[in-house]
Amino acid sequence: MSRQIVIAANWKMHKTSEQARAYIQQLSKQVELAPNELVFLAVPATSLEAAASAAAGTSVVVGAQNMHDAEKGAFTGEISANMLKAAGAQFVVLGHSERRHVFGEDDAFINRKLHRAIDSGIRPIVCIGETLEQRKSGATERTLKQQIEQSLKGITAEQLTTVIVAYEPVWAIGTGETATPEMAQEAHAFIRKTLAELWNQDAANKVVIQYGGSAKPANAAGLMAQADIDGLLIGGAALEADGLLQIINNTHPIVSES
Ligand code: PEP
Repeated sequence: MSRQIVIAANWKMHKTSEQARAYIQQLSKQVELAPNELVFLAVPATSLEAAASAAAGTSVVVGAQNMHDAEKGAFTGEISANMLKAAGAQFVVLGHSERRHVFGEDDAFINRKLHRAIDSGIRPIVCIGETLEQRKSGATERTLKQQIEQSLKGITAEQLTTVIVAYEPVWAIGTGETATPEMAQEAHAFIRKTLAELWNQDAANKVVIQYGGSAKPANAAGLMAQADIDGLLIGGAALEADGLLQIINNTHPIVSES
């Protein structure tokens, strides 16, 4: 079945508003997307407004890297879904491994954020993935199933179809180590099977499942050729527009000029 393709760059804690504008101007001028393909940029909250206005009227979709689950209140330093939306965010990354492992976020918190994002009309990208220890001890599938059950708890099948799941093995993020296309496909197929068991096959077939973890121009095509890989979530290699453009171009079939 043909699903949407979503190629997303995660800028992490990089880029001022001015740098965001320059990146988006270059990207939007040069990018050529397939009809069912979207390009997402997860930008720092301070660059959201500038990025959203630079992306207006282009094919570039701007979103945020994190949010709080509460509607408002005494949460110093936090940002709500409504604030993100007002600043121009169309999607939000939830449960990125750096949020889970550096800032101690658990599945219950991520689940509350997910519900708030959906209720606020912001498309969620929910990140899941095993650590190296979990992979080595044969706990990859158990870990993924538990993260899916807990972080996606309580949503309807219809809501599920709007969620993007990013499979990001923790050992591959920012390390230069990439899952082979076969390893990634195996995990993605397991994720889709689990979604079908917990909701239904029809909804699971519609879910965009991205791979993230040291994706780059050299490995993007091999990953994207897999049946259950519907997009990429890219950190380091997409920090410059040239890198993201190269990844997008490399994943497209070569069109003969003759
Ligand atoms: C990420 O930040 O989600 C990520 C996958 O980073 P990198 O591509 O640098 O591994």
